[in-house]
Order: sequence, then structure tokens, then C-alpha cells
Amino acid sequence: EEQRSEQVSSQNSSNADTEITRLKTKLDEYFYTGATKAASWRIRQLKSLLSMLQKEEKQFAQALHSDLGKSPEEAFFSEIGFLTKEIKSFIKKTEKWMKPITKSTPLLAFPAKSMTKAEPLGTCLIIGAWNYPLMLCLSPVIAAISAGNCVILKPSEKSPATSALLAKMLPQYLDMNAFGVIEGAVQETTDLLALPFDKIFYTGGEKVGKIVMRAAANNLTPVTLELGGKSPCIIDKNIDLNTAIKRIVWGKLMNVGQTCVCPDYLLVHHSNLDNVLEKIKQVIVKQYKKAPKQNRFYGRVIDSDNVRRLAGYLEGQEVVYGGEYSAEERYFAPTVVLNPDPDSDLMQEEIFGPIIPILSFNGRSDMLQFIKQRAKPLAAYAFTEDKEFEDKFIDTISAGSMCINDISMFMANEELPFGGVGTSGMGSYHGKYGFDAFSHQKSIMRRSFSFENSFRYMPLNSIKMWVLR
Ligand code: NAD
Repeated sequence: EEQRSEQVSSQNSSNADTEITRLKTKLDEYFYTGATKAASWRIRQLKSLLSMLQKEEKQFAQALHSDLGKSPEEAFFSEIGFLTKEIKSFIKKTEKWMKPITKSTPLLAFPAKSMTKAEPLGTCLIIGAWNYPLMLCLSPVIAAISAGNCVILKPSEKSPATSALLAKMLPQYLDMNAFGVIEGAVQETTDLLALPFDKIFYTGGEKVGKIVMRAAANNLTPVTLELGGKSPCIIDKNIDLNTAIKRIVWGKLMNVGQTCVCPDYLLVHHSNLDNVLEKIKQVIVKQYKKAPKQNRFYGRVIDSDNVRRLAGYLEGQEVVYGGEYSAEERYFAPTVVLNPDPDSDLMQEEIFGPIIPILSFNGRSDMLQFIKQRAKPLAAYAFTEDKEFEDKFIDTISAGSMCINDISMFMANEELPFGGVGTSGMGSYHGKYGFDAFSHQKSIMRRSFSFENSFRYMPLNSIKMWVLR
């Protein structure tokens, strides 16, 4: 025990004066001045962030191209444009969200005014993922600013161009008394996680999610965990298959399948299998032409290790389309696999790449059963025109979010909370939910001296008790 406490204290002392602890102390001190609480300060930061995205769009698009081979159009559609829309909405709504919300008061406390008032949490740590390296860093930062917090941002080291650009640009646009960017990998993240933050917002995989939550527990720091998982997609019979497959292929192949909410695998009725397969092949060619490798709208896998991981999933599987890859070029072709073994790695791990496994079933209840037996996904999809089945799907399946007859479009509606359930995460954000994720709802009751209800005072005699009951 003694040895352990010595270790801890030597760890603390080695942490005592590093760049990270100095930054954290600086932000804490600034937070306590109250400067970040003013609506004007929050809105100034948001406006400045907006002008950063507008002025530096080209540089950010270049960084996203370097990290993930994204075309400037896709970079705008899925990251920069998404963020500018979000910031504009936060600029409009922040002051409204800051206002106290009046609540009713029970008779026993009458007369009084009851309300809740959102207050910022303090200095927050935001750890980003690499697949949408700009959006997944800045979207929580926007929410944290709107709620009046200080932030240390740790972008992913696997998207180095975007990480470096964020570290360079944010100090030019934000009040750096309240913000800091720490670049780095496991060591830097571990050092950060040792500090008593007021909130940790983590986006990434389940394994590191557990490390984050364990570290947060040491300081009783609240966490939001935006994790992943295998998101299923049911294709029912008697639907507009053209439109359905167009949407599915778009959702799956955007960013080469490296999207946390993209459909991981498809479930179809066996009698529909050939139709679905043919349509998928047609639509892939229509959207990405015969040579996706040369198509500028088809991006790249984040690194060669991930190409090798994906290639490993194909071993022993029936690959009916694609399957070509090049680890050196970080390329992986759109690939379709038929009826993989549910116990194979392909069906046990989150694919996070352009492989589409299609599983055939004898009936819809088998499909629901298959999904239910597995971990709760971040998203679940069903393409169906049968209202009864749609209701059953919604009632039976637990998932972070659902979309009927489309893929990931719930992300475009900030009225809907975005987050996981079970192993796909905890907590949510987007719009007001993001503001709430970085706020504490403080309860406030203001009593009056004007009237005294003495029922609660001792001694509690039988008349008082009769009234109280
Ligand atoms: P990851 O968990 O490997 O890494 C994320 C972050 O954790 C990085 O910043 C990294 O530096 C840090 N990290 C890695 N190892 C660490 C360790 N041992 N100790 C401390 N910190 C460590 O995740 P990833 O590979 O970047 O992302 C892929 C996963 O993220 C997928 O599961 C995907 O579904 C999920 N994801 C979820 C969302 C969402 O919004 N819910 C969005 C994107 C990605």
C-alpha cells in the first residue's frame, strides 16, 4: 500500500509542472474569474469559430484530403458545412438556453418561485476521433462554449493534418485564456486523463471508452461517451428497392465506411437476396464508377494497419463483389460478402470500412432476434413500408438512434439527441442536448417572508399530521 501511494505521489509530482498541468491550471483560474459565463463572451467565441471555418475552409479541406482522401465537396458536406450550420444555430439560441426555466411549486413550499438555471461545468476535456476529425472535435467544442466552459481539446493523432491545423488555427480565433489544444497519442491522453476535469467528452472506440471512464471515476468527473458498434440494417420486401439501396450505398461508402453510424451489415429475406445483391452492385458502379480507386469522391482508409485489419475480415468469407485493396495506398474497394458466419471477426467486430456483409433470413422475427442478441448498436435501420413491422422494429430494438427508410439522416436534425446506449455510449449531444451535456441544471427555489406555513415545524402534532397526510 505504502509503495503504491509513493508511486502515486511521484506520479503526481512528475505531473506537477508539465505543459498539460500548467494549461489546466490556467484554464481553471480563468474559469473562476467568471469571464466565460457572459453570453457576450460565448457568442464572440462562436462567431470567431464561424469565421475561422469560412476563412480557412480551403486549408481544412486540404487537411481532410491528406488524412482521409476526402474531396473538398465531401469535406464541406460532412464536416465544414455541418459545423457552420451548427454554429449559426448555437449563436441564435445560446442566450435563450441560458435563461432560467420557471417550474411550478408545491403547496407545502408556497409562496415561492422555483426554477432551474443552467451553469457551466468548468474546464472540460474533449477527446476527438479521426474519422470526421474536424467535425468530431469542433461539434462538442461548440456545445461547450455555448454552455460557458473552458476546453482542452485532444484531436486524434491518426488524423495528423487536421490535428496540426486545429492546433495552429484555434489560437488565432479563440480566447486562449479559455482554450488549449494538446496534440498527441496514448501518453498525452493518459496524462490528460489523470487531471480532475469537470467533464470529459470522448468520441472513439469502446476499449478506450472504458479507459476514459475508469480514469474519470478517480475524480468523479462526469463523462459523455460517444462510441460505436455494429449498426444493423433490415431491408424488407415490397419496398422501393432502388431508392433504398441508393441510400444504403451512400451511407455505407461515404468516408469509405469509416462512419460511426453507417450500416455495418444488412439483413434481408432469403427470397430477396439476389435482387438486393444485384442492385447493390449497380448502385456502387453508378455512384463511384467502375474504378473507385481513381474516383476522387472515393476516399482512403485512415492508415495501412486498418487496411490490413479489413483484409483480415475477408479470410474464409464468400466475397461476391470487390475485395481488392492496397495497404500502401490506403485503398480498400467497395466489397460485398454473402452470409458470413455470425461468429467470424467480420460479424463480431465493428467493420469501420467499405465491406457490406449481407445476411439472409427466413423471416422478419429472426432478423429482430439476431439484432436483439447482440450489443446495443449506435444506430439501427429498417427499410419497410409495413407499418406494423416498423412499430415492432422500433419497440423491439434498443439503439442510440434509428432511421426508418434512410441512413444517418437523423444527424441532420439538431432537435434529435445523438448518442449511444449500452456499449455504444452514454449521454448525447447536438443542439440543446449538446448545451445540456456541458451544463449543470441548478435547482433554485426562492421563498418569500410574506406568508408562513407552520405545518412542518416541530412538534408535529396530530392536527398537523392530518393536514400533511
Ligand atoms: P480510439 O478509441 O482508438 O481513439 C480515440 C482517442 O483515444 C484518440 O484520441 C487516441 O489518442 C485516444 N487513445 C487511444 N488509445 C488510448 C489509450 N490506451 N489510453 C488513452 N487514450 C487513448 O478510437 P478510434 O479508432 O479513433 O475511433 C473508432 C471508433 O470510434 C469506432 O468504434 C467508431 O464507431 C467510434 N466513433 C464514434 C462516434 C460517435 O459519435 N459515437 C464518432 C466517430 C467514431
